[in-house]
Amino acid sequence: RVNRGDFMNALDEVTPAFGVAKEELEQVIQNGIIHYGPVVDELLRSGELFVDQVRVSTRTPLVTVLLHGPPGSGKTALAATIAQASQYPFMKLLSPDSMVGFSESQKVAAISKVFADSYKSPLSVIVVDNIERLLEFTPIGPRFSNAILQTLMVLFSRRPPKGRRLLILATTSIRPVLTDLGLSESFDADLRVPPISSISSIRHILDEVELFNNRSDAERAVGLLRQAGFSENESDAMSSNANIGIKKLLSYIEMARQEPDGVADRLVASLMNI
Ligand code: ATP
Ligand code: MG
Repeated sequence: RVNRGDFMNALDEVTPAFGVAKEELEQVIQNGIIHYGPVVDELLRSGELFVDQVRVSTRTPLVTVLLHGPPGSGKTALAATIAQASQYPFMKLLSPDSMVGFSESQKVAAISKVFADSYKSPLSVIVVDNIERLLEFTPIGPRFSNAILQTLMVLFSRRPPKGRRLLILATTSIRPVLTDLGLSESFDADLRVPPISSISSIRHILDEVELFNNRSDAERAVGLLRQAGFSENESDAMSSNANIGIKKLLSYIEMARQEPDGVADRLVASLMNI
């Protein structure tokens, strides 16, 4: 027999076609943010200022921000963290991952729907993740979807209806291409998310993830990194070439962790092959 409880359970299980906004955001930040250097706090602080601006200012009902930086530098996690921290009533991650197998027109419809939904809320934040993949950009050709480009251009510059406010946080690894496509002008502000290039940042991360259980192994890894060309501090990082995105660094750390012997050497070996 089906009773009221079953019916209510069934309602809970029904999720909208493009997922519950909160869950999607939470999924990309589940590993958390490591405050490995001043740049992390600066980026989060800048994001918070945009969140506040949209919340209080009556003159800027639409603010668009582009987070850009090399692959794996942490753009998605930072954008999602800023969005999540806003606690706006409407928070949404628009990601190419959720549109695998969609046709071009289905993507246009899905993107338009997210914006239309946001216009119903007094305060909204949309993370438009990985714009180049959303645009189906390929450097060979080069090719991209003009229909999706036109959709984004219109939505990025359309003022929300009266009394509604919207913050757009977009991410990309190839900002120069966005400039070529004429999309850069759609943004009010740019936040650069740099890769990690200093030993002090890596040291911080190694401590936080507790890869080594003794100091001498940690120091050995640091010594090897110094030889590999990583600079001591972020401030003198300009003069060095060695750098790595946090995403890769964390995955190398987890790989190195799999075997107890020679952890430092295996970590540095994978770092040097980047
Ligand atoms: P891609 O270029 O592939 O889109 P990305 O720049 O968007 O990559 P993320 O997908 O955000 O990078 O990956 C960063 C990973 O590092 C996430 O798993 C995140 O939880 C973790 N992380 C830890 N500390 C930080 C930090 N300070 N900033 C950003 N990400 C961090
Ligand atoms: Mg990303």
